[in-house]
Amino acid sequence: MNYHDEYQQSIEQPEVFWRKQAEQIKWYEFPETILSQDEHGFYRWFAGGKLNTSYLALDVHIEEGRGDQLALVYDSPVANMQQKFTYAELRDTVAKFAGCLRNLGVEKGDRVIIYMPMVAEAVIAMLACARLGAVHSVVFGGFAPNELAVRIDDAKPKVLVTGSCGIEFTKIIEYKPLVDKALEVSKFPPENIVVLQRPQAKATMQSGRDHDWNELMSQASPADPVSLDATDPLYILYTSGTTGLPKGVVRDNGGHAVALKYSMKAVYNTDPGDVYWAGSDVGWVVGHSYIVYAPLLHGCTTIVYEGKPVRTPDAGAFWRMIAEHKINTFFTAPTAFRAVKKEDPEAKLLKQYDISSLRTLFLAGERLDPPTYEWLTEILKEAPQPGIPVVDHWWQTETGWAICSNPMGIEPQPVKNGSPTFPMPGYNVQVLDEVGEICKPGETGNIVINLPLPPGCLPTLWNDDERFKQSYLSQYPGYYLTGDEGIKDEDGYIFVMGRTDDVINVAGHRLSTGEMEDLIAGHPAVAECAVTGIDDELRGQVPVGFVVLKDGIDILRIKCRKN
Ligand code: AMP
Repeated sequence: MNYHDEYQQSIEQPEVFWRKQAEQIKWYEFPETILSQDEHGFYRWFAGGKLNTSYLALDVHIEEGRGDQLALVYDSPVANMQQKFTYAELRDTVAKFAGCLRNLGVEKGDRVIIYMPMVAEAVIAMLACARLGAVHSVVFGGFAPNELAVRIDDAKPKVLVTGSCGIEFTKIIEYKPLVDKALEVSKFPPENIVVLQRPQAKATMQSGRDHDWNELMSQASPADPVSLDATDPLYILYTSGTTGLPKGVVRDNGGHAVALKYSMKAVYNTDPGDVYWAGSDVGWVVGHSYIVYAPLLHGCTTIVYEGKPVRTPDAGAFWRMIAEHKINTFFTAPTAFRAVKKEDPEAKLLKQYDISSLRTLFLAGERLDPPTYEWLTEILKEAPQPGIPVVDHWWQTETGWAICSNPMGIEPQPVKNGSPTFPMPGYNVQVLDEVGEICKPGETGNIVINLPLPPGCLPTLWNDDERFKQSYLSQYPGYYLTGDEGIKDEDGYIFVMGRTDDVINVAGHRLSTGEMEDLIAGHPAVAECAVTGIDDELRGQVPVGFVVLKDGIDILRIKCRKN
């Protein structure tokens, strides 16, 4: 089928289209209904279907004879370490860790916070939760105790899983003191903490509350996957909203599995057995969808990289990874390549590596700015296999997979520099003006998506249906508001230009100026403050804070104390 026919069918006959996609995964019970509405009037996909995401990501492949294929490769230039897991090994380890969680009282529906560095155990912990039907909430390891505490209090987890430290270039960042601090200020601290002790730093343990990962593993027996409803939550992922409080984006099990499996072919043109690398962090949505779930649901090998684009050890890090692990599909943020370009503008380091395995390069997280696009297409022209496509695709935490992309696995389309091309099947994208009229081609407006959103997108916000309605559904009834502005041109190409709210994008990560204002306002010397984003060549935007100090506060004294 060509792209336009596939897209039209997804919009005109969504139930026919998504039933076909749902048949691509192995359900315990195939859903009775494809699309329905719940008691709040929110759309739900595949209600009544029964499945388990961990089973689909692991056991299915073993049953289909893929048990000896590599499922996960962990590569850490900062810890100087690599680990490889076949599907059979990963399934056994996940089942064992699910047994550990079960021994700590974790059951279906309980929440587990995962605050981990980029190690294989972070993925293992996520899949172990999915196996039990527990709802994980991964908090990015770079967040400070206060941010962690806010998320703990919203999710009210039974267990928190952490590591003794993260490693940033050569710096060891001890996580456990940060966790202890968060637990101290939290109103709903979990009863049990699991700590992965890493050799670089040993965490101090509180007896009775804190448990050593390896000790638990040595005592646990494996847990089987639990049958879940398609509409049961798989995870909560907090993302910045316009207020100080982050939004808990909920992802269900059924729609998520169907949509991500579909995207692996339609967007990324990958097949089972391919090596797929998303150079991101499990703390972000790209990590959830494309380090953990999608590649494993599709039977690919996924990569967990604990390093940076540069200085670990140099700007050839990406090329080294692609050559060493024979990566077929690579996905990262434009900011990562801007960092590489700054240190190695002529891409001299690329010439040291054989990247002939690479078929396509995908970018998202922020707009792929035309200079970075041009630089990448230019340097990849000289790679061993000339003309590796460079694909910009646009999505957000809420959607979980690409809203717009060049549909590489359906029918690649001509590229327009600065545009993530066309809406993916399932997304009916419109650009509306202030009064809700559809903008003329080329006119800037609010980018919205007709309801229902396709499977995989958020059904609501954790414990906050009202905020879900207010934030996304109320401005234009019948549409989902993306919070982005842009244009649709005369050929239907979408151009995404930036946010319409108080969210800024720093190095591909979404930060709320409101949340930062709350933090600064918490300083005893500050009377008033405002945070805004300013342009930055490398990171897209950086936050700048303006403060009014309280009367009688001496600026010099504050500076000295901070130093
Ligand atoms: P996040 O939820 O953290 O993934 O951030 C999503 C936001 O990042 C989107 O709403 C956009 O503002 C921006 N974004 C992500 N990918 C792109 C892209 N390819 N082009 C333009 N903006 C993007």
